[in-house]
Amino acid sequence: MPTSDTTPPSHFIREIIAEDRRQNKHDGRVTTRFPPEPNGYLHIGHAKAICLDFGVAIENGGVCHLRFDDTNPTKEDVEYVESIKADVHWLGFDWQDKLFFASDYFEQLYQYAVQLIKAGKAYVDSLTPDEVRQYRGTLTIPGEDSPYRTRSVEENLDLFARMRAGEFPDGTHTLRAKIDMASGNINMRDPVMFRILHSTHHRTGDTWCIYPMYDFAHCVSDAIEGITHSLCTLEYEDHRPLYDWFLDELQTPCHPQQIEFARLNVSHTMLSKRKLLQLVTQGHVSGWDDPRMPTLSGLRRRGYTPEAIRTFCERIGVAKRDSVVDIALLEHCLREDLNKWAQRVMAVLRPLRVVIENYPEGQVEELEAINNPEDQSMGTRQVPFSRVLYIERDDFREDPPRQFFRLAPGREVRLRYAYYITCTGVVKDERTGEVVELRCTYDPATRGGWAPDGRQVKSTIHWVSAAHAVPAEVRLYDHLFLQPDPGAIEDSDLTASLNPQSLEVLTTCQVEPSLAGATAGSRYQFERQGYFCVDPDTRPGALVFNRTVTLRDTWARIERGQRGR
Ligand code: ATP
Ligand code: MG
Repeated sequence: MPTSDTTPPSHFIREIIAEDRRQNKHDGRVTTRFPPEPNGYLHIGHAKAICLDFGVAIENGGVCHLRFDDTNPTKEDVEYVESIKADVHWLGFDWQDKLFFASDYFEQLYQYAVQLIKAGKAYVDSLTPDEVRQYRGTLTIPGEDSPYRTRSVEENLDLFARMRAGEFPDGTHTLRAKIDMASGNINMRDPVMFRILHSTHHRTGDTWCIYPMYDFAHCVSDAIEGITHSLCTLEYEDHRPLYDWFLDELQTPCHPQQIEFARLNVSHTMLSKRKLLQLVTQGHVSGWDDPRMPTLSGLRRRGYTPEAIRTFCERIGVAKRDSVVDIALLEHCLREDLNKWAQRVMAVLRPLRVVIENYPEGQVEELEAINNPEDQSMGTRQVPFSRVLYIERDDFREDPPRQFFRLAPGREVRLRYAYYITCTGVVKDERTGEVVELRCTYDPATRGGWAPDGRQVKSTIHWVSAAHAVPAEVRLYDHLFLQPDPGAIEDSDLTASLNPQSLEVLTTCQVEPSLAGATAGSRYQFERQGYFCVDPDTRPGALVFNRTVTLRDTWARIERGQRGR
């Protein structure tokens, strides 16, 4: 279970629960649930709900149930069930033996519906879907009673039983709650409780051809499980009167309290499962776990850690008002975590060959490199140095602009952990004029990176030894959508709004030999470049890295700006 050494800041939900416990409501017990619909993979927005649902339960000595809201067989699949379970565990939470499915309650839901029919509080409606829409009214115009609303209890019981028995085709009848077609709250205008759907369910198979609607299934499932606090996002605020109506009318033994909080929105990030599914099915990404996806599986593959995501979810807080969180905060939390423990290594992404002319041919030295300056206990490692090296193409300019302090003809720089080198010559491709190799000299007295005469250099660059380096592919990522609020993009514009440069694949990278056997999921800091994670596409002899995040912390800059500096 995740722990934190500082007391987390309070928020209105923590306060409600603390007060309920003081009042000994529900005998002081706290039971929550996380209720995903298995129709897609979990994303960073769900992480907020998971951290909240599981978090407040754990803080109060309670449990959080994992309940699949699997009431729509046409969109749901076991693949999603399994991925959701794996993602919740990965995030660091455990539901113990409290794994439930709304589909386990289909019979009970049916019986509760019968109870409402008998009480004259539900009826079978036979309007066509179009007619239902017409009768419903609008925000300003009250709805009208369906002509079927006055059916007798006996007729309703008979029709409902026959709906279940499969006598009617889809869309011909529904079971509706009899509440108030003139209600100012459209959710209360005789909401549908059951609909006919001749569709095979991933768990119940063909046992059922009627399926309960979310609003009915959700509150009853909560009550059956003895949930005390049912936390959900703000769009359900208008559904709360219905949630309470069902439980009051059914007189369930437990009446959970629904509490709404603002859903998470993140800049540059699409958090609609439906649209994410569209990206997958249309092939705009390689799958739900494409490292550009905001799904937990995508973030994991990209190299995000559960610790970073939990810290982020804690820092954003829980409020009643919708807002957009800057993605820079998420990246900041990630760097903060990786900085503590990710091993530093040297990797050259766009190699430029360097020959040290005064270094003996065939000589190899092992130089000591620090694994993590933030954590001395991580120790050091040996990095081979030899006459031919690769440096980053960007670290050399033949004609350096004024603020460019890295390598240039005639200039001396430090090779990290190694020597000072001076560029003495440039070899170019005769046809294209492109610089293909640098000729340099080194100063043997500067071993380790320091000159005994106290001579300073203005920059330190990373390198790998050409004979020892391991080739690798590195995948660089940028936002999938260029606009800051992709949630606002219409379905039809989704493709056109994609960032054509969201993926850049570098195939000629050279990484230090200590990375040779790196396994999928391992995370490193490539010095001066960012954090990288070994991708599962890695094969023996064919390393593939994902850039998780660069080192540039825009959030720290934003914060400094907010403090007026
Ligand atoms: P759909 O649009 O498919 O209903 P959903 O995102 O609501 O998608 P669910 O599987 O129903 O998906 O979500 C499970 C839980 O996660 C719900 O309680 C929901 O309120 C919560 N949740 C979903 N998206 C967010 C978000 N962006 N921020 C916070 N909580 C969220
Ligand atoms: Mg939902």
